[in-house]
Amino acid sequence: MHRNRKAKIVATVGPASTDAATLEAMVRAGADVFRLNFSHGTHEDHKKRYDILRGLERSLGRPIGILLDLQGPKLRIGTFAEGKVVLETGASFRLDLNPGQPGDGNRVALPHPEIFAALEVNTRLLLDDGRIELRVDKFSAEHAETTVINGGVLSDRKGVNVPGVVLPLSAMTDKDRKDLAFGLGLGIDWIALSFVQRAEDIHEIKEIVQGRAGIVAKLEKPAAISELEAIVEAADAVMVARGDLGVEMPAEQVPAIQKRIVRVCRRVGKPVIVATQMLESMVGAPVPTRAEASDVATAIYDGVDAVMLSAESASGKYPLEAVTMMNNIIVQTEWDPYYAESIKAGQGPARAEIADAIGLAMRNVADLLDVAATVAYTSSGHSALRMARERPQAPIIGMTPKLATARSLALAWGVHAVLIHDVASVSEMTEFACATAVREGLAKPGQTIVIAAGMPFGTSGTTNLLRIAQIEQQDSNEKETAQ
Ligand code: PGA
Ligand code: MN
Repeated sequence: MHRNRKAKIVATVGPASTDAATLEAMVRAGADVFRLNFSHGTHEDHKKRYDILRGLERSLGRPIGILLDLQGPKLRIGTFAEGKVVLETGASFRLDLNPGQPGDGNRVALPHPEIFAALEVNTRLLLDDGRIELRVDKFSAEHAETTVINGGVLSDRKGVNVPGVVLPLSAMTDKDRKDLAFGLGLGIDWIALSFVQRAEDIHEIKEIVQGRAGIVAKLEKPAAISELEAIVEAADAVMVARGDLGVEMPAEQVPAIQKRIVRVCRRVGKPVIVATQMLESMVGAPVPTRAEASDVATAIYDGVDAVMLSAESASGKYPLEAVTMMNNIIVQTEWDPYYAESIKAGQGPARAEIADAIGLAMRNVADLLDVAATVAYTSSGHSALRMARERPQAPIIGMTPKLATARSLALAWGVHAVLIHDVASVSEMTEFACATAVREGLAKPGQTIVIAAGMPFGTSGTTNLLRIAQIEQQDSNEKETAQ
């Protein structure tokens, strides 16, 4: 089963998409990577979903990427006696450090002393993704009296942002460390680190992970944007986390920041995901707004690796319709004759490195000879990512002897990952590449393919070999059955 599109779909799993039948339908409809959001659910919930997805991977014969999203130092209010309250604009509302005492219309717990320590009179507090705004009138180290500037319904454990205030928070909480150990034990492929502020946050988690999973830096704080290049360099992939980003900074700044992040990632060839509210209205409706369809298409025209569904697939009424819609928008956009020109514009110059030289040469060969497929023989995934960086028109087959690599490549633009066993020589690799391209229905006997790899085989980051091969006419069927 291969996709007729380049960009990938990340779908968040949640109560709306927990059963095997729904998850299978989502894979068939186009979900390439599943996101387990550790801001919600128990370890048992996530393990159940993880096991179903791995089972589907076996039954459908297609590598599935699984991304564990760590909650990070997300600030949240406590709970209410009634589950929720209505805050009237202009009313007073108190926040304090008493998590044991359920909230009501006059107060709620905010169990974060570091917030009270950073307050000033007139500090703005944004709750529930900015839907509710409070202004601080008076405060101590343990409480704050506020005026409701924008009222509305406020329910249990809603998020709190303090825009413009740098809080002394570590990127990983105790809960994150436990969740991380749990996820590594399961065998997840990607870990998303929330509220990254500095490149050191990435180095810190990499120390723990030791290459067992790729690290996605979630860019959702202004501090991260001012250190963008260093963070992208440190991470393995990046998420434009527009939900919190649009609360921490004015919404009108988000589009330009999104495009800048995408440009920086594409220049260095790190996968980039655009996330949050992409098809938001599909949480409650079977069709998106035209503006949402356009938002997805814009990301695709910019050449992003993946677009993401959050509440749409996790808790909405139409998880399957959302995946189908996202798939259809991507396919339609990539069919547009202007698409190739558009992604080329975002390409950026290659770096004076061997891997980039191989990528460029591959791209030239692919265009000149009109090859049926490009193949990366890759152990770590590096060669496949160097090919994806060039955004070739022909499909990219990521041929790898490592299941974990095949899974992680599910996130990368245009890469169709296939698991094969180790090869010992360039001629064996070439033979496998030809047979795999035919077997996967991406090339026919007589057609040409171009193969990139790193020698010596199995050593990461050595992309240094380009091989052009013509698939033999008679032999291919025999080779196919010999596999
Ligand atoms: P979240 O991250 O859904 O974990 O908050 C995404 C975002 O902030 O956009
Ligand atoms: Mn967020």
